[in-house]
Amino acid sequence: MPRSRTPARPAGAFVSWMISPKRSPARRRLRRPANSLSIQDLKDVKLSQYFMPILRDAPKEAEIVSHRLMLRAGMIRQESAGIYSWLPTGFKVMKKIEQIVREEQNRAGAIEVLMPTIQSADLWRKSGRYDDYGKEMLRIKDRHERDMLYGPTNEEMITDIFRSGVQSYKDLPRNLYHIQWKFRDEVRPRFGIMRGREFLMKDAYSFDLSAEEGRHSYNKMFVAYLRTFARMGLKAIPMRAETGPIGGNLSHEFLILADTGESEVFFDRDFYDMDWTAFSIDFDDVAAVAGVVEDFTSKYAATDEKHEAAEFERRVPEQKRLSGRGIEVGHIFYFGSKYAEPLGCTVQGPDGQPVTIQSGSYGIGVSRLVGAIIEASHDEAGIVWPEPVAPFRIGLVNLKAGDAQVDAACEKLYRTLEGAGIDVLYDDTDERPGAKFAVMDLIGLPWQVIIGPRGLKEGIAEVKNRRTGERENVSLDQVARRFAGA
Ligand code: ATP
Ligand code: MG
Repeated sequence: MPRSRTPARPAGAFVSWMISPKRSPARRRLRRPANSLSIQDLKDVKLSQYFMPILRDAPKEAEIVSHRLMLRAGMIRQESAGIYSWLPTGFKVMKKIEQIVREEQNRAGAIEVLMPTIQSADLWRKSGRYDDYGKEMLRIKDRHERDMLYGPTNEEMITDIFRSGVQSYKDLPRNLYHIQWKFRDEVRPRFGIMRGREFLMKDAYSFDLSAEEGRHSYNKMFVAYLRTFARMGLKAIPMRAETGPIGGNLSHEFLILADTGESEVFFDRDFYDMDWTAFSIDFDDVAAVAGVVEDFTSKYAATDEKHEAAEFERRVPEQKRLSGRGIEVGHIFYFGSKYAEPLGCTVQGPDGQPVTIQSGSYGIGVSRLVGAIIEASHDEAGIVWPEPVAPFRIGLVNLKAGDAQVDAACEKLYRTLEGAGIDVLYDDTDERPGAKFAVMDLIGLPWQVIIGPRGLKEGIAEVKNRRTGERENVSLDQVARRFAGA
């Protein structure tokens, strides 16, 4: 797809487009949704036994801040152009993002499946996209000379799955999704995992009987996306978008603002003041869901591909016209019968006649979000993770490893925090304090709890908020309680 190369313009100076966390750590924990799964493998670790290969210097190949910080913090390693290994902290962040995406898809009624990465070319020939997709598609031959491909997306396959599993209109509506690796042989993979060739995507596909019901399915995903990004601390503005090779006629991209974004965006400043918090809604309430979509689409917001300067000027007063650059983190499409028609995806309607299914597809760049969140949330010293996606909630810093008393106090607090289910990275190494602080700031955990001989004499630890830099002395026996939720 064409991308504009116009220079960046600030999207309103001094305006933060992150949702600021207003609640205390305790309150926020309580807000975790009831269906939230516990991720067993996300347990606490000691730095002396961990794998977090920190780089002292900024790697030359990294052009943008998120790529630089991810390499420096030891989150990823490039294996070949646009193909990365995910190291422990990077992998943890991606898993947390993935879990938020999953919870919000489930909440909106979508059902999780898992389709393979390798697909047969046959279905793609039927839909006509085997040739259309061009060089971005990685084509493979198996030992029997059959044409295979590494899936760049799954419309054909899911339509075929659905067709073979559903006969009657009574089986509709349905929305199926998976979170799976994709491969697109991008002309210019760059910016680290932000534009990779192999990347993790959530893609959902809706199946409806009529265009009207299809629209409701689209709207549900629209609202689910607002909730998903808000839970990560992001204001992702829905913008009118081109439908590109996916096809169809109704489409929105969700973009977060960042100077390094690849799209130029034009939008109304009013978005800033909208309610972005993860509002609750009954997804079966057609009018309520449509109401939220109406709210968020009534204001002007478009990427360069759909931007109409005259309309922008007519609809938005001059002082509210903002433009800047954005990173696409999600994209939703309604395409009606575009795939169902050629693939013969019909169900028996109420009158016994076959009805062609109406569909849409809905993508979120799960691996891209790791970089996109860093682009939106960092400072000079490093990453500033929003709490819900941070690799650990707390970094426990032992200022004098080897000192029996400090070791014992740290160990005790570490065990208590671990027992309370709080994600802790315990820096038990014998590095200098200055180096430890620099690493903690670089990796961006929301809280640092610092214990040294001086404080210990008075029975206190220092608690530092990474985002604000605020420090506070907290009595050692109160630290765990302070973070322990209810
Ligand atoms: P872009 O315009 O950025 O190339 P796209 O429009 O081709 O993306 P979609 O087909 O809409 O991508 O894919 C859904 C989501 O997957 C995108 O919104 C984006 O977040 C993510 N995504 C797409 N391409 C990549 C990539 N090369 N690397 C990482 N994430 C990607
Ligand atoms: Mg897109």
